[in-house]
Amino acid sequence: MLSLAEAQAAILARIQPATRTEVQALARANGRYTATALHARVDNPAFDNSAMDGYALNSRDLGAHGFVLPVAGESSCGSAPQQLAPGTAMRIFTGAPLPAGADTVVMQEDVERTGEQVRFPQNTRAGNHVRRCGDDFRAGDALYAPGRRLCAYDLALLSAAGVAEVSVTVRPRVLVVATGDELVAPGQPLRPGQIYESNRLATLLLLEVLGAEAVDGGTVRDDPAALRALLKNSTDYDFIITSGGASVGDHDLVKQVFAEIGEINFWKAKIKPGKPVAFGCIGTSTHFFALPGNPVSSLVTFKLFVEPALYAWHHSQQPVLELPAIAANGFQRKPGRMEFLRARLWSENGELKAEVLAGQGSHQIGTLRYTNGFIRIGEDSQGFAAGERVRTLPLL
Ligand code: AMP
Ligand code: MG
Repeated sequence: MLSLAEAQAAILARIQPATRTEVQALARANGRYTATALHARVDNPAFDNSAMDGYALNSRDLGAHGFVLPVAGESSCGSAPQQLAPGTAMRIFTGAPLPAGADTVVMQEDVERTGEQVRFPQNTRAGNHVRRCGDDFRAGDALYAPGRRLCAYDLALLSAAGVAEVSVTVRPRVLVVATGDELVAPGQPLRPGQIYESNRLATLLLLEVLGAEAVDGGTVRDDPAALRALLKNSTDYDFIITSGGASVGDHDLVKQVFAEIGEINFWKAKIKPGKPVAFGCIGTSTHFFALPGNPVSSLVTFKLFVEPALYAWHHSQQPVLELPAIAANGFQRKPGRMEFLRARLWSENGELKAEVLAGQGSHQIGTLRYTNGFIRIGEDSQGFAAGERVRTLPLL
């Protein structure tokens, strides 16, 4: 059985990354991945300007005029001011251009204004409250490398840099299918032995957030013929993700069908929850994941396997933020698999704390309402005591 790292490496080695790109306006590029490097079109700031509402002046004039200067002219946002007349101060507002001849801004709270005369503080420092042209970035600077997943902050930055549209990799088309004779949609009555289906919705929504075009393939019964019929006509998808039917019970139909129509790369990993998880390919460019049916296993394996695969498909890399924390309670276990415990994380006196939540069964989706991260336990570990350092993965 593969370790987590081995299974992840096997996936990354097998992913066929996207070959097509498209151009999108910034407003439509949230969550998409850059296909090219992106460069600034302008300097930021584009010109020297004021960081405060106040007065622009030449610092050399202050001592010469006893720190009192007459006000002449005004610089406001959106237009170019006159040159600063020698021996005067100019009214100026935040973001307005610094007039030629000025080198300093004094904020209005620090002056005494009497009519058209302004008294400035004696400790005024040259260069104060001036934002210099290009102190953030310069026209032509490379802002993003290819493979960057763009978020709202990135799109704001690109907008400020004068970039109107970006070239991004196309969205992968992903088919999501749940399997199981027992599964019923919420809103329907439950007959004996039935349960409400929940994995498909979570998978579809997680895919959307990751920039994929998720297609709902519905629920199929535990019938190889039905699954075969559905999947055989699905090779135009970049990914197929199934849930359930992948364990070693009598109904492990997913493995059977994937083995027939494609090539299974691995079908088990040394992790908990989520041991019965399979990955492989149909043809050269359709990747499949058979995720476990237990709801928590399904979510954990999505994060550990599908997410990095999607990033790789976009020529990118999944960001992983693992943080040390102090365990608020202990947890003992049998070594052997890498384990992900649902946990509550919080900050206390400048330290991250992590509490193992009660209810770690892989069917116990109820625990998720208190979960904002995982505690990760190494394969060989027997657990930890309260007060020990643990490794955590926040879920943001
Ligand atoms: P399986 O992997 O099909 O053996 O399923 C393992 C467990 O997960 C069983 O208790 C199933 O009832 C449950 N399960 C399977 N698929 C789903 C699903 N889509 N939503 C919720 N529970 C599921
Ligand atoms: Mg099943």
